[in-house]
Amino acid sequence: MFRSFIFSLLLLVMASALFNSVYCQEITYDYSTTMNDNKKIIEESGGRLWTMKCKCKNETCRGIIDQFKTLPNEVKTFYIKNKFVPDFIINKFS
Ligand SMILES: [Zn+2]
Repeated sequence: MFRSFIFSLLLLVMASALFNSVYCQEITYDYSTTMNDNKKIIEESGGRLWTMKCKCKNETCRGIIDQFKTLPNEVKTFYIKNKFVPDFIINKFS
């Protein structure tokens, strides 16, 4: 769970630096595209599944960063079809 967050953050920083320096454009990144944590295992070990309120202000924002499986089906399909998700998500959900 934490590793996926750090990985996502690293990707965001790298992508942001690249695109902002080259094109001066703002980008957004859906952290939910990398989250496939096992709620049962986490809760059995005394943890709690991580989620976060999103304040990106995008007009299509869901308001929460949560597991990939919680995304609307059309969003999941779009992300998978366009390969906007890592292989472990594609392998699990396609
Ligand atoms: Zn948002």
